[in-house]
Amino acid sequence: MTIDLNGLVANYKLLAKHASPAKCGAVVKANAYGCGIEQVVPALLAAGCETFFVALVEEGMRVRKIAPDTRCFVLNGVFAGAEKVIHEHGLVPILNTLNQTERWAAFAKAHGAPLPCALQMDSGMRRVGMSPADVERVAGQNHLRDHLDIQLFMTHFACADDVGHPKTDLQQEIFEQTSALFPDVPRSAANSAADLQSSGLTYDLARPGVALYGGEALNDVPNPMEPVVTLEGRIMQITSGESGDSVGYGGTETLTRKSRIAYISVGYADGYLRSGSHTGVPLRAVTQSTTAHFKGHTLKGVGRISMDMCGFDVTEVPENEINEGDWIELFGPNVPIDDVARATGTIGYELLTGLGDRYSRIYIEPET
Ligand SMILES: *Cc1c(COP(=O)(O)O)cnc(C)c1O
Repeated sequence: MTIDLNGLVANYKLLAKHASPAKCGAVVKANAYGCGIEQVVPALLAAGCETFFVALVEEGMRVRKIAPDTRCFVLNGVFAGAEKVIHEHGLVPILNTLNQTERWAAFAKAHGAPLPCALQMDSGMRRVGMSPADVERVAGQNHLRDHLDIQLFMTHFACADDVGHPKTDLQQEIFEQTSALFPDVPRSAANSAADLQSSGLTYDLARPGVALYGGEALNDVPNPMEPVVTLEGRIMQITSGESGDSVGYGGTETLTRKSRIAYISVGYADGYLRSGSHTGVPLRAVTQSTTAHFKGHTLKGVGRISMDMCGFDVTEVPENEINEGDWIELFGPNVPIDDVARATGTIGYELLTGLGDRYSRIYIEPET
């Protein structure tokens, strides 16, 4: 697994340009989408990023350790008992419910000074965030407002990946109406898709995630991002079979010609999902398997993906050009990660965040 931090920085700069005049933060939850918080955060910091978003307090603690002078928001809010650790690590909780807001205000009151936080509203996604009525309650209650240093007013779009989706307009209208209750508080709504789609959606602070890491954010639009992650598997063995032979668990694939199959040391235990198998798995919308790349050849998967290995048809690669120990690209510059995700019945986000811990992770440091 090679993570090119030059690609990450180029992607950040493109997203920041799209977000302008809004500022651009970065979402680094789930270990920076599998790319490594400890490597990604310093690279983004050097590129000018000053605000980070994580899902969990533990992730925030890792961010603050390497970037103590930046702001780090915790998306998943504040559970009872977590107030102290959030405060001690200088994290900023995103308050998603009235309970969380009351909890943080009570903690701040006991602490003796207003404490930083963000408020998130649900403008129509019906995921997390306060209803407009609850936001009004917070706005109208001085015993809450006096203890809150509200740094951001947020919402999240359900359908931003679909350019021009009417739900985005509806959510935007509700967000703008409700945010008028806090006229001095900066606003944030844009994930990667909204950031790329329109500067009308970025308000004061964009918060892209997946596009930083090279993933597709918008549907049915060419992906403008640079690949960041290249995943390669090493050939353990090249096996031969005759027409009529069955291959792999369940014998679900029957060869239709004399074939050579290269087995690499990557399987579903490494997050190379079994649902990407060429045959023998019913739960997939599309019928083609994942493909891989070797020296200009596109390789088709053969049979079922196993726990620790999977096979690709290399019949068309001249025998003297491919050997045990060679590397096959599973995704990267020659195989878009989202093509692999589609063939697997999922999205690039899930592939990236599910890659296991058995890979050697190699970082290409940004050129300065
Ligand atoms: C994960 C997340 C983001 C980033 O979304 P991408 O689609 O990866 O850009 C932004 N905002 C919130 C609230 C999120 O949960």
